[in-house]
Amino acid sequence: MRLTVIGTGYVGTVHAACMADLGHDVLGIDVDADRIATLSAGRPPVHEAGLSDLLARNISAGRLRFTTSLAAGARFADVHFVCVGTPQRPDGKEADLRYVDAVVDGLVPHLRPGALIVGKSTVPVGTAARLGRRVAAAAPGCEVAWNPEFLREGSAVHDTLHPERLVVGTFSRRADAVLRELYGPMLRAGVPYFGTDPATAELVKVAANSFLATKISFINAMSEVCEAAGADAALLARAIGADSRIGPLFLEPGLGFGGSCFPKDIRAFAARAEELGAGDSVVFLHEVDRINTRQRRRTVELARRLLGGSFAGHRVGVLGAAFKPGSDDVRDSPALEVAAAVRAGGASVRVHDPEALDNARAVLPEVTYTLDVPKACEDADLVLHLTPWPHYARLDPAALAYVVRRPLLLDARGALDAEAWRAGGWTVNTLDRYETEAAS
Ligand code: NAD
Repeated sequence: MRLTVIGTGYVGTVHAACMADLGHDVLGIDVDADRIATLSAGRPPVHEAGLSDLLARNISAGRLRFTTSLAAGARFADVHFVCVGTPQRPDGKEADLRYVDAVVDGLVPHLRPGALIVGKSTVPVGTAARLGRRVAAAAPGCEVAWNPEFLREGSAVHDTLHPERLVVGTFSRRADAVLRELYGPMLRAGVPYFGTDPATAELVKVAANSFLATKISFINAMSEVCEAAGADAALLARAIGADSRIGPLFLEPGLGFGGSCFPKDIRAFAARAEELGAGDSVVFLHEVDRINTRQRRRTVELARRLLGGSFAGHRVGVLGAAFKPGSDDVRDSPALEVAAAVRAGGASVRVHDPEALDNARAVLPEVTYTLDVPKACEDADLVLHLTPWPHYARLDPAALAYVVRRPLLLDARGALDAEAWRAGGWTVNTLDRYETEAAS
């Protein structure tokens, strides 16, 4: 089938390449001409495992092209996936829908008869209905559907080619049939398909993100209680996660969530529920958000205590800048927020990250960046582990102890092997278990 993918960011680039890989004829569209030039040259604009090969293979097979022209896209295909950003509004907690609206308004005058616009962006419930009315009025016979995206940055290609489920909200059987045909190879491979109405599809996405964010904040709240009680949050997490009704995933006490989805999605969901008169039902999301934000302050304050009460004059090595491992995305990155606060407190800060340094430099130019872990840690009085890249779990703690001024570690992700680091000569601290007397 012929289709367009509009918005070639983290979601759109991966979706376009994966749809081409399924055998479809795909045109990727973006307003960013530099990005389109990069993609046309076969270079991915974002870091995702496997994306480079996928792009190269499908471009050279002639199934994947890119353009900045929405009108050309409208003429090219009958199915248009909308993958543009829906960030938090600058003046509130609601989602900013201006990019989604601009795409729909830009497509409508040029649509082929019967075209289908399929939203993948995360939107407030009711958006598909609103846009559907606009499309039906301006281009009778054309319609809107919603097919939210569940990929995880860091494993986006795998998640798109092998999703745990497809959720598709349509206003007609015809639209549902089009999407079943488009995803045919996945359905034949046994991927569950939840066909529903658009409002339910929109809500599945924000409900899933709210649940995951709540799970993370729950264990972080428990970690705060463990800290006060002198109990072990990591063991508590493993022990409650062993209950099959709870499960171990997303139950790792630490610095909390960030990125371009969870924080803005739970805020937008709470704001939308309020508009619908159901604000009380999701009031807990405000607390989930507060607990999460607190972990960043908690990390900064513990780092300060470990350094004897002040950052001034100290050197701090930081492991990680991306908001999560496997990605170069630093949007609302907890690691960068902590690094910025430590720098603002007067420390000299050197940050290592294997993939996110260019993006990090653009957001936080006040610190030094390096692709070399020993350089990041050289002469450090404290090392902060802030993004749990697998690379850091494979470091040689004894060798790294030689380059620092003081082998003092704050593992704010609780992901390193504390025993191995202690054996390598380090004092190891986590958010709930620390030895501040080490500073004296
Ligand atoms: P992104 O910021 O990486 O990419 C958005 C792209 O859209 C940019 O390249 C931008 O130039 C382009 N764009 C903006 N306006 C445009 C227009 N009028 N026409 C064409 N292109 C335009 O965003 P993202 O992270 O890929 O997220 C996209 C959507 O998917 C959001 O709603 C997000 O919440 C949702 N989502 C993201 C993820 C994720 O992990 N990043 C996962 C699931 C869902």
